[in-house]
Amino acid sequence: MTDKTIFQKIIDKEIPSKIIYEDEFCIAIEDIAPAAPIHVLLIPKILINKISDSAKEHQDLLGHLLLKVGDVSRLLGIEDSFNVIINNGEKAGMTVPHLHLHILSGKKLSITS
Ligand code: 5GP
Repeated sequence: MTDKTIFQKIIDKEIPSKIIYEDEFCIAIEDIAPAAPIHVLLIPKILINKISDSAKEHQDLLGHLLLKVGDVSRLLGIEDSFNVIINNGEKAGMTVPHLHLHILSGKKLSITS
């Protein structure tokens, strides 16, 4: 049995977090070290280590997560201005090996301008 990730402990309510949204498939929490004025993490409740480890069986869950990005953005009132970042792998800056989507707003992060 592998050790739980910090996110699994948050999902299991073993450690506290500021929960923005939760359903049976995912949880959205405030990031403990925000990189922008609004920084929320959207995390699936099942463990997928990283997006490149996802498979066909995860298709519905991945679609659900993207739909929830929109719902969470509306909850936060940022639906017209936010970035979504998924780090994939340690070399890309991933520190918690449990798939999560960063939802960031209030700071210009666009890679195109
Ligand atoms: P990564 O670098 O893996 O893409 O993102 C991990 C994120 O999790 C970081 O932005 C970090 O600040 C956040 N984080 C790490 N530990 C905790 C924690 O215990 N609680 C919360 N809410 N966020 C955390």
